[in-house]
Amino acid sequence: MSLLVVGTVAFDAIETPFGKTDKIVGGAASYIALASSYFTKDISLVSVVGDDFPQEFMNTLKNHGANLDGLQIKKGEKSFFWSGRYHNDMNSRDTLDTQLNVLADFDPIVPESSKNCEFLMLGNLMPNVQQKVLSQLTARPKLIVLDTMNFWMDIAMPELLETIKGIDVLTINDSEARQLSGEYSLVKAAQKILAMGPKALVIKKGEHGALLFNKEEVFFAPALPLEDVFDPTGAGDSFAGGFIGYLAKTKDISFENMKRAIIFGSAMASFTVEKFGTERLIGLSQKDVDERVQEFIDLVQFDISLV
Ligand code: AMP
Repeated sequence: MSLLVVGTVAFDAIETPFGKTDKIVGGAASYIALASSYFTKDISLVSVVGDDFPQEFMNTLKNHGANLDGLQIKKGEKSFFWSGRYHNDMNSRDTLDTQLNVLADFDPIVPESSKNCEFLMLGNLMPNVQQKVLSQLTARPKLIVLDTMNFWMDIAMPELLETIKGIDVLTINDSEARQLSGEYSLVKAAQKILAMGPKALVIKKGEHGALLFNKEEVFFAPALPLEDVFDPTGAGDSFAGGFIGYLAKTKDISFENMKRAIIFGSAMASFTVEKFGTERLIGLSQKDVDERVQEFIDLVQFDISLV
């Protein structure tokens, strides 16, 4: 059930109504790898950092089962840096700064042992890098999931459209779905996006949960109503990690199983937002994850008989 994770490993500086951090570790691939590690330990990570990146966090990723042979460390260069500020509703944020640094000329190298991975998570990155990863694989994975964001839609839309043509599942948030499709209605947006290539689409709506579409069906997963959302950074990536991790564990990529997978994804995202950065995703127990998933089951279970 090998899982290849591609995406940023980065420094973030975050401002929320609850506080502010200086540079802390983050990045899409970091969140994805940590979240998926609760479902599979056969994870391989492809990314790039500068030599300013802490060895300690790389050890944490390794301890969670991630093989870092595909993580390039560039001497004398700086890691990708992103900074964002959340609005009071915690659902929307402004990007304050994006410094590509090592990412600017990143040439991904997929380790030989991962070229036939069964599951591929193309985390948020420039679309042409996501494509370069696809072109190195020796066999088509059982499932390709791709996550992206408005930043790449703004500066690399043609490359993004080319990349999503051949994937299985696209995960984006509601405003990105509107930007990509030009439709305000999410139902219409979904149908337009599915016509672009992906077989299924997940639209993340922050505290309002997530929608899963294929051409015929739609399914909804709530977000857990939490007393305090401390920092939403990485929620989308943790969702993606839980989603693909569960699918990799169960090896079942049917729409029915994807419905379960978005609950597991939502559960992992609900942990992430409880603390700043990646902190809450480190060292959870199986019991923590099981109890959280049970809370989701309890939240939406109702007994109605239509006679
Ligand atoms: P999320 O909150 O799930 O959308 O992801 C937040 C993470 O995405 C942060 O840890 C950032 O380092 C990373 N990130 C922010 N902007 C970009 C970008 N343009 N490309 C790739 N990763 C990014």
